[in-house]
Amino acid sequence: MTKMTSQDYIKREDKYGAHNYHPLPVVLEKGEGAYVWDVEGKKYFDFLSAYSAVNQGHCHPKIVKAMTDQAQKLTLTSRAFYNNVLGEYEEYVTKYFGFDKVLPMNTGAEADETALKLARKWGYKIKGIPQNQAKIIVCNENFHGRTITIISMSTDPDAYNDYGPFTPGFVKIPYNDLAALEKELKDPNVAAFLVEPIQGEAGVFVPAEGYLKKASELCKKYNVLFIADEVQTGIARTGKLLACDHEGVKPDILILGKAISGGVMPVSAVLANDEIMLTIKPGEHGSTFGGNPIAGKVAIAALEVVKDEKLAENAERLGKIFREEFSNIKSEMIELVRGKGLLNAVVIRNKPGKTAWDVCVAMAENGVLAKPTHGNIIRFAPPLVITEEQLREAMKRIKEVFKKFE
Ligand code: PLP
Repeated sequence: MTKMTSQDYIKREDKYGAHNYHPLPVVLEKGEGAYVWDVEGKKYFDFLSAYSAVNQGHCHPKIVKAMTDQAQKLTLTSRAFYNNVLGEYEEYVTKYFGFDKVLPMNTGAEADETALKLARKWGYKIKGIPQNQAKIIVCNENFHGRTITIISMSTDPDAYNDYGPFTPGFVKIPYNDLAALEKELKDPNVAAFLVEPIQGEAGVFVPAEGYLKKASELCKKYNVLFIADEVQTGIARTGKLLACDHEGVKPDILILGKAISGGVMPVSAVLANDEIMLTIKPGEHGSTFGGNPIAGKVAIAALEVVKDEKLAENAERLGKIFREEFSNIKSEMIELVRGKGLLNAVVIRNKPGKTAWDVCVAMAENGVLAKPTHGNIIRFAPPLVITEEQLREAMKRIKEVFKKFE
């Protein structure tokens, strides 16, 4: 049998898979640390990290070992019974992030849904909002996932078009606008404010310094829960363990996903203190796979790697080098560079034949993988285990590409 080429793999996916993504024409088969390899054996720097899930680097041996060891013992019990790993994980993760309790789920979207349910439950049981009147404030250009309720919060037509009717109960305000927030917080039926500390999918929008701090204080003043969706910004990506840590903000509900497993399997978590978490009673929420023993062992290992390998410090230091190097590239195509830690974006001035997509295709040819979003923004988010030497080598290749487009 002749060996399949990249084109063969692409054609097969195109034929048998739904067309809900538009990938770059690269077919990957192997990963290690900051690198991935395609089926032809070409090596690339991965500057997407599976949308910041692979912060600990591809196939981290400690995380893979935790996974395979547990997989040979016990994979899934459901929550109908206790198992000997879940409690160990729950104790570890709550102490790690400083909350009373965790509610384990699988994907980011499920964790967001869980947080929304929790906020409504708290609104009715504790705050005393009349039944079915609870409101949750969200921000324009947010991204929290793909379920019907979550896209009901979206302001992106690609996310919500033709998927109605939508879930009511959301109030949308501009991001980074404290006056708009305070105005809505005055409504006594508001249960929560849900926010991304940096809007990742929107194109890495970093709010003004002090925004999160002031927003959380306002929430406290009006007895409204401050919910941080750190699915993308969390777990060392922005140069601190959580992006909220940059401003010393402790959310009432913290949502984590992606890198909590180092990208080896879907693991997500909702963390909160007892007053909030214990409003949900047995039978009122759950998930067959949530809190399974493999997920527990994997998440412990993945979180240990973050501390052991000082990934937050690495992201902070190398992020500065990245933005400095990028600002030094002389190119008409670069409109601006923004970000925190190793979550960065470059806004591209698109021209015919010179778009963000063209840049990403050329970068891939030159051994660096990144993906455009919203037509003119390229996100750069390498695994946090990347070394300074590797980062500088990748930057050299990125510079070559921009030079070629001049
Ligand atoms: N929340 C944020 C901030 C995200 O960036 C994402 C995914 O990009 C999600 C939630 C959804 O996560 P998942 O794709 O695992 O459902």
